[in-house]
Amino acid sequence: MATASKGYAVLSAKAPLVPFSFDRRDPRPSDVVLDIEYAGICHSDIHQAREEWGPATFPMVPGHEIAGIVTAVGNAVTKFQVGDRVGVGVYIDSCRKCENCLNGASHYCLEGMTGTYNGLERDGKTVAMGGYSNTFVIDETYAVKIPGNLDMSGVAPLMCAGITLYSPLKHWGAGPGKKVGVIGLGGLGHMGVKFSVALGAETTVFSHSAKKEDDALGMGAHHFVDTHVEGALANATKGYDLILNTVSAEIDLDPYLRLLKLNGTLVMIGLSGKPYAINAGTLLNQRRSLAGSMIGDVHQLQEMLDFCGEKNIVSDVEVIKADYINDAYERTVASDVKYRFVIDASSF
Ligand code: NAP
Ligand code: ZN
Ligand code: ZN
Repeated sequence: MATASKGYAVLSAKAPLVPFSFDRRDPRPSDVVLDIEYAGICHSDIHQAREEWGPATFPMVPGHEIAGIVTAVGNAVTKFQVGDRVGVGVYIDSCRKCENCLNGASHYCLEGMTGTYNGLERDGKTVAMGGYSNTFVIDETYAVKIPGNLDMSGVAPLMCAGITLYSPLKHWGAGPGKKVGVIGLGGLGHMGVKFSVALGAETTVFSHSAKKEDDALGMGAHHFVDTHVEGALANATKGYDLILNTVSAEIDLDPYLRLLKLNGTLVMIGLSGKPYAINAGTLLNQRRSLAGSMIGDVHQLQEMLDFCGEKNIVSDVEVIKADYINDAYERTVASDVKYRFVIDASSF
């Protein structure tokens, strides 16, 4: 039977979000049904709701940082039981047979991952509706278990902001003896700081908001560079192994590339939707790399949650009610959130 749901939707590009009722698809044998408790607001939701990444699918119920409780399971489900704490992230399915799907990289599925919203499910007709709602239905393969000791509101942002920083930090070997920089102390960036510090790397925050310095140091960052100060980047200490750019807007990359040591890597994570100009001379000097990274595979998502359970890591959140979502969008764009808005799903 279809699951009646209440949420908030964008009905056309750039329109404000409004209350919206809809049905979730009929659960299949391998599906779990959940009551959502909290849903995070990612800057990617805003980019898509405003078509900053190109044409989008409307009506759109955004949201891909979901934490909830299982209320029903299909008869083929083995991983979950009613009452379990369950998380859903940025994708809900993939082809399951390509080289990447078979090798722990299903988020890079060669047929394209199936996003949690803003597109069709793999049946080619059901519009995927995201987490700004009170229920969800997902194949158990793409859902993860939330450790019992973690606060659910702080867990929701781990499902995108968390994994998106955990994955490149692991891939490029952040740890003791490594110097890591995080550009932008927003939803993604603050998780990058927490993970980089927990992994043992010397960690620097590059921020255009001087007022965030105390918070950055409180999260364990070893250094803070206020990028609005004239010459701050040119005079900054060099020798970084890894710099992660989480900024949602376009910035000049060259001053950051210059901070990388021999073989160092600048990873693009923020996606403004605009192309960049690169100075090749800065790359070839010191054999520097410019790379990109997108979220993380569902297995790594579980690994990250288990790591968070062990280290007691969650996101710093401002919990809001549904009728504040439009204000939260404006404040996120203005870099005015500590450090992730999370919607209390009981308010839908
Ligand atoms: P967010 O919470 O809005 O944080 C972005 C941060 O960027 C801000 O807090 C601010 O940090 C900095 N910033 C914003 N505007 C700036 C400007 N004009 N100049 C310099 N710095 C600026 O956003 P988010 O949710 O963390 O997402 C960040 C970006 O990552 C978005 O583009 C999003 O779409 C993308 N994203 C990518 C992936 C992926 O898989 N690669 C996943 C999720 C999101 P300071 O105030 O500290 O300067
Ligand atoms: Zn996201
Ligand atoms: Zn695939």
